Amino acid sequence: MAFQPEGEGSEVRVCQLASGSKGNALYIESGQTRILIDAGLSARRLSAHLQDIGIEAASLDAVFLTHEHVDHTSGLGPLCRRYALPLYCTQQTFSVLEKLGPVKTRFFESGESVVLKDLRVQSFPVTHDAVEPVGFVIEGCEGRVGLATDLGVATRLVQDRLQQCRVLVLETNHDEEMLREGPYPWPLKQRIRSRHGHLSNREGSELLAQLLWPGLEALFLAHLSETNNTPQAAQSCVAHVLTRQNQCCPQVIMGRPDRVSQCFEC
Ligand SMILES: [Zn+2]
Ligand SMILES: [Zn+2]
Repeated sequence: MAFQPEGEGSEVRVCQLASGSKGNALYIESGQTRILIDAGLSARRLSAHLQDIGIEAASLDAVFLTHEHVDHTSGLGPLCRRYALPLYCTQQTFSVLEKLGPVKTRFFESGESVVLKDLRVQSFPVTHDAVEPVGFVIEGCEGRVGLATDLGVATRLVQDRLQQCRVLVLETNHDEEMLREGPYPWPLKQRIRSRHGHLSNREGSELLAQLLWPGLEALFLAHLSETNNTPQAAQSCVAHVLTRQNQCCPQVIMGRPDRVSQCFEC
């Protein structure tokens, strides 16, 4: 059943503060609530990137964490301490984080939902080489925002959880040929390709094809490799899927490694 918080609906704003193998953070604002998912840039840069979109880091309600990899956690401790932000993550993920110092922590079980003011944040397990990685669906009166990055395979469960989102943030990590022919050592190529690695442009697009519906308004392409992908390759792969159907015409927004992406706002 859809989450029905009380009160009037208001704006939704989603934007990637950074995206790629060097650092990831996603800002979501809906109704009265502002959250960050992942904090993979220094606290100073996160707060500067938030200011670029007119947001004070101190006004965030919480930081949610997908998994412990450094491209998702490098600014986590300083950000949460400096602005007294609560951290939401699974207990297993917390157990392998570097010491964060005095940070308020709230644990959820993988697969569980957390209600935070007028948002419900539902986690779901993904396969990735981390202890207990998750994706999220954030639901408020303005609809659903789904995030799935850092996953080796889009399981049936992932496809189920991401249905009927108004905004999707999906991984298109690499172009399969660029990865195969590229400079990475063989074991690393194998890891990226494995069930516990990352979705390629083709796999991300196949996942997208399962999630099309008339309510889809924006698609963020996320976690692009700077070595094994190009924004053009990722974009043309999803364009194949989008031009073959006439259910929806989402705005496609590219995540950037070094700057804030375009915002989805409405
Ligand atoms: Zn990552
Ligand atoms: Zn990762």
